Amino acid sequence: MSDPKLRYDQIVSKLREYNHKLTPQRLAVVKILAHSQGHPNVESIFEQLQKKFPTMSLATVYRNVMLLKSLGEVLEIGLPDGGNRYDGNKPHPHPHVICVRCKSIIDPELDTLKDLNEEVTQETGYRILTHRLDFFGICGNCQKLS
Ligand SMILES: [Zn+2]
Ligand SMILES: [Zn+2]
Repeated sequence: MSDPKLRYDQIVSKLREYNHKLTPQRLAVVKILAHSQGHPNVESIFEQLQKKFPTMSLATVYRNVMLLKSLGEVLEIGLPDGGNRYDGNKPHPHPHVICVRCKSIIDPELDTLKDLNEEVTQETGYRILTHRLDFFGICGNCQKLS
């Protein structure tokens, strides 16, 4: 995991660089995404901000997440059921482990995957731009419940 404070600063300077306004609401969304605890969806970011910004709409949160995604500061993780989750702590492509029961998502630390892009290039001749690698299973908590 990257240092959330550092990620927050990186995202804010990117917003500055592209002349986007730094409203308190926007900065609050950035703060949550810099941590990206558990890879939140837009709804859960919205819920976390309801108390502090009761007038902020779900659409505003969504727009801000999309803005950060377009700047390359947030990674979108599409789930097979159609939901999207977000990681602003590690915005570059990386593998995820997803629980099929409770939908919790974690980042495994896997050194062996570092050279994967290069290996795929050598094997296929493709110039690799990005990749997706997701593992689906049942998390420790859900195993205890079953
Ligand atoms: Zn689970
Ligand atoms: Zn992640």
